Formats: sequence, structure tokens, C-alpha cells
Amino acid sequence: MDGLMQNVPLTVDRIIDHAASWHGAREVVSRDAEGRVTRSTYADIHADAKRVSNALAAEGIAPGDRVATMGWNSGRHLAAWYGAAGMGAVLHTLNPRLFLEQIAYIANHAGDRLLIADPATAELVEQLLPQVPSIEKVIFFCDRAALPETSFAATAFDDWIAGQPAEYVWGGFDENSACGLCYTSGTTGNPKGVLYSHRSNYIHALMTLQRDALGLSARDTVLLVVPMYHANAWGVVYSAPAVGAKLVLPGQRMDGESIYNLIEEEGVTYSAAVPTVWQMLLQYMQDNGKRFTTLERVTIGGAACPESIVRTFRDDYGVDVIQGWGMTETSPLGTVAVPNAAVAAMPDAEQMAYKLKQGRLLCGLEMKLVDDDGARLPNDGKTPGRLMIKGPTIAGAYYGGDGGDVLDAEGFFDTGDVSTIDAQGYMQITDRAKDVIKSGGEWISSIEIENIALGYSPVAVAAVVGVAHPKWDERPILLCQLKPGASAVASDLIAYLDGKIAKWWMPDDVLFVDEIPLGPTGKIDKRAIRAGLDGYALP
Ligand code: ADP
Repeated sequence: MDGLMQNVPLTVDRIIDHAASWHGAREVVSRDAEGRVTRSTYADIHADAKRVSNALAAEGIAPGDRVATMGWNSGRHLAAWYGAAGMGAVLHTLNPRLFLEQIAYIANHAGDRLLIADPATAELVEQLLPQVPSIEKVIFFCDRAALPETSFAATAFDDWIAGQPAEYVWGGFDENSACGLCYTSGTTGNPKGVLYSHRSNYIHALMTLQRDALGLSARDTVLLVVPMYHANAWGVVYSAPAVGAKLVLPGQRMDGESIYNLIEEEGVTYSAAVPTVWQMLLQYMQDNGKRFTTLERVTIGGAACPESIVRTFRDDYGVDVIQGWGMTETSPLGTVAVPNAAVAAMPDAEQMAYKLKQGRLLCGLEMKLVDDDGARLPNDGKTPGRLMIKGPTIAGAYYGGDGGDVLDAEGFFDTGDVSTIDAQGYMQITDRAKDVIKSGGEWISSIEIENIALGYSPVAVAAVVGVAHPKWDERPILLCQLKPGASAVASDLIAYLDGKIAKWWMPDDVLFVDEIPLGPTGKIDKRAIRAGLDGYALP
């Protein structure tokens, strides 16, 4: 027997409809590349999104067609996002920080028909166009005055939508229709496309709005530092309008000073970003003796959150740090390290260990650990295994069938992460499978050593990688980038780590480097590190 409730499709146009209807005057603030701040509202974004839908329809874009954007976080980008999704097109976010060849590969693979790009990427677009014949038209996120000079005919976004009516009938399609496309950065092999549905994005927004997840509210002012092209913007493009939070979009500037100024000027209460952004911000604040007046909490994810960041935020600035874990394939949020009742009752020092884990599973998802043969491993907090995950916000296949069947017999997706799960249900990442260091048949967690090394104050960035060893298979070595003006020698680091990690985890070597390479989403690029070590021999 069916239930007798209304069967309303969960399509994301309803989210921006809701924001415009019930939080219409709530501000959306954007900063452009020149540093100028523009103010609009959810009602304005909604109207512009409708104009975008009309402009897309006028270009002959039909439901299911891919419309690419390549830009930083801005109000125009948000209008394009909802305008494309609302009319049934698929918004494909391209990451301008990838190499040209990667972007071309991705745009061709997706079959993008239109490209709406930030004016600052004009040179890149110039090189890209001849390589992607499917792109019929380029629009730049700007007004006519800011339109960059190009060899091809381009249109300013403001002109493109100016004559269009602010009415368009959205929705009317199945909630399982494709809504957005985002490629993994391809740290192994070619990038693969994750094709979100309206339903998956809608459910993800509801899941992440729980108090024990991102916990956003109508009273929050949210600074979305996570780029809209990275991992579905952590779903914040949906969750912030869903609750009517004020949204602050920082554009291209991610340096400590720019982020700090925006937090203070706009009264930001909540923000989300990868650890490297927060490291830059904290460094700026320490160097300049700054304080926060409104910031209450930040979510850190995308890479393991070092203890030093949690402590500095909390002890020096009174800001709560919440770690989250996820990946492009999981929409992205999967687990969040918010204390449960048992952890909250522990003394402060014990709670810290749980804050540094990747957290507890959101309702609606299932997770398990398996060995290389797919057999289940215990949730004992000690045994590392491949982390498998299942649920309505988890990828079931890649776009175009890349990678073949990605689910196991029970329908779980292999995250490519190696982790433990403890008796409290906290998951802790020990490594990505491809970065795992296997020494004498046992796994060494590079992430754990890195986090401890970061506690040594001269160290700005730490990376541990495995190097081939004749007896042990692999041994870890530690690479350190020191803070400007700081100094340290290898024996200092070894002495600092001594007693904090198992003896056999101790790095065989410590190398000081000017710069540890970061990938296109601000994470440590271990593949580049390993390539740079070609010819290196252990002492
Ligand atoms: P990529 O890094 O390949 O571009 P994603 O942005 O989707 O793709 O990154 C997902 C990966 O980032 C996860 O599989 C995991 O390895 C890592 N990650 C995400 N959050 C955390 C976290 N809180 N701690 C440790 N690793 C994390």
C-alpha cells in the first residue's frame, strides 16, 4: 500500500524559490577580482537565474545539455548555477586551476555546449576553445565594461541576461534528472565525472543542515571559501539559501588578509574551507595581531585538519573547528566530527582526539571497512581498511561509464581512502589508498605523522611519503616547508616526533624544501612530491 502524501519532486529550483519567497531580502555579497564588493539578495539571484534560464533556452540549450562554468564564487555564478539547473540543463563546474590539457579533456568528455567563465580566465579560454569544438559560445561573468579582449566573439553575462524576462517555469522533470557535473581532479588516471541529480543535491542539503553537520541557520552569515568548482561547493550553494543564511562569496582572493577583511566587514559567523586556507588566515592574524568579532565556527575538510589549527582557532580566537570528511563522489559530506553525548562528557584533553578524527556518519548513509578481498573488518578503532560508503548522495557510476562498475556486491562505493572506525562510530582516515606507506607488511599513516610534525612550531607544511626500501618494502620520509624566517634541522624534528609515534613509524629522513607542491584544490600533491624525489636514495 502506498502512502498518501504528496509526491513532490525534490528538485533544487525549489530551494532558490524558497529563498526568494521567504528570505528574499537576505543578502548575497560578492567580491570580484578587483576587490569590489557587490551586494544583491536572494530575490535578485532568483530573478537573474530565471533570466539565465531564458537566455539558455534562447541559445537552444535543452534539458540534459551541459553548460560549463569556469569561475570563482560570485553572485553571477550562483545565478548561472540555478538558472541552468532550474531549466533542466546540467551545470558543469570547471576548475580554472587545472592544467589546460586537463580542462580540455574534461570539457570534451562532458560535451559542454556553452562556457560561462570568469574574465580573469580569458587567456585560458583563448587556448581552450580550439581544443573543445563542442563549445558554441563563451560568456564572461562581468558587465560590458569588464569584458576582456579576445580573438573570439564573447558576450558579457550582464548583457546576455539583460533583455530576458525574470519569469520561467522551472522544474516539471523527474527528481532523478541530472543537475550538476563535477570532475574529480584525477590524481590517479584521467579525471572522472560525478553526475549529481536534483534529488541527491536536495537530500544532501537537508542532511548537511542538521545541527550535528554544518548546522546552518537563518541567523548565519556564511563565507563560502570552498570554490564552487570544487566538490559541489560542499553543498553550501544549496544549504545556505535553503535556510536563508546571508551568503558571502569571496571571488578569487584567498589570501589571509582578503579573507580576514571579508569576515570582519560582512559579520561572517560561519565558514568552510580546506586547511591550507585557514593556515594562511591564522598566519595573517598572528602576524598582524588581529581578532575576530563575529566568527563562531568553521568547517574544515578536504584534507586532514591538523591539531594546531583546531587549538589556535579555539584557544586564541574562540572559534570552534568542526572537521568534515567527504569527496566529490559523496556530494561531498559523509562524516562530521561533532561530539556525541559520550564524547561531549569526556574531559577536554580526551575530546581533542575525536575532533581530529573525520567524524560520525550522516543519517541516510552506510559505511563499512573491508580488506583487499572485500571482507568486512571490525569497527575497533585500530584495524585500518578500505572505506566503503552507500546512500542516496553517493555516486553509483561515473559519467560516461568510466571506471566501469564502481560498486561492490552490496552496493557500496569504494572511497579510495583507508580508515579506521571506532566503537563510538567515529571514522578516521589514515591515508588515501594510493598514498599508503606499507612497511614490513604494516601500514604507516602518513596523515598522522604530518599532523604531529605540524605541531612543531617552525613547520608550515609537512608531507610524509613512502620511499622504496630493499628490506621493508617502503619507509616513510618527512618533507617540511618551514615558516618564513624559521629554522630547524632534521634531528629537531626526529626528537619532536620521538615518543609521539611508534618507533617503526619514525621517518628515515627529513628533507627541508622551499615549497611543498599543492594541487589544484589546495591539497598537498603527493604525486608531484614523489615525482620530484626521482633518483632520491634513503640515507
Ligand atoms: P581530489 O582530492 O581527488 O580532487 P576530492 O576533493 O573529492 O578529490 O577529495 C576527496 C578526498 O579528500 C577524500 O577521498 C580524502 O582522501 C580527502 N579528504 C577529504 N576530507 C578529509 C579529511 N577531513 N581528512 C582527511 N582527508 C580528507
